Amino acid sequence: MTQDERYMREALKQARKAYALGEVPIGCVIVYQDKIIGRGYNRRNTDKNTLAHAEITAINRASKKMGDWRLEECTLYVTLEPCQMCAGAIVQARITEVVMGSMNPKAGCGGSILNILEMPEFNHQVQVKRGVLAEECTQMLTIFFKELRVRNKLEKEATKERAFSEQIPEKKKEESVEMKGKMEYNKT
Ligand SMILES: [Zn+2]
Repeated sequence: MTQDERYMREALKQARKAYALGEVPIGCVIVYQDKIIGRGYNRRNTDKNTLAHAEITAINRASKKMGDWRLEECTLYVTLEPCQMCAGAIVQARITEVVMGSMNPKAGCGGSILNILEMPEFNHQVQVKRGVLAEECTQMLTIFFKELRVRNKLEKEATKERAFSEQIPEKKKEESVEMKGKMEYNKT
């Protein structure tokens, strides 16, 4: 196993924590001098916070540990290509290298839609490696979305059933009014 694979496995461990919470499984670690100085996983729904992406959490932790907003000579490992917010934060933090697992053609800003990490116009460019343990990273996401579709379908069916069963008492009420009317009619 290469060093990149070893740390990507650590990022996958973080992604599993997100998965356990029912969050899109994305994980991240930041490494400095062969030591992990920050970890993070996606908690966007749990925290109800747009900023709760794996990379932002890992950057926050790493900065705290380093006592500096600059994360020079650090390598960030992330299981999925960063979005525009995280790619921006990576450039802002002056992170030296980013190693990513799967690409994200619908939202990725590390080469898919934009390449914020390597824009020559910015004052900092990141070295980028793509496709490290891509199969494992993609598989985790594929399984998650497959399960989510099943869950959504079951929930939809359950909602329909609830709506149906709530209609029954209404019907019974109507019937009882009808019965009462009949009884009163019989009295006269
Ligand atoms: Zn992000």
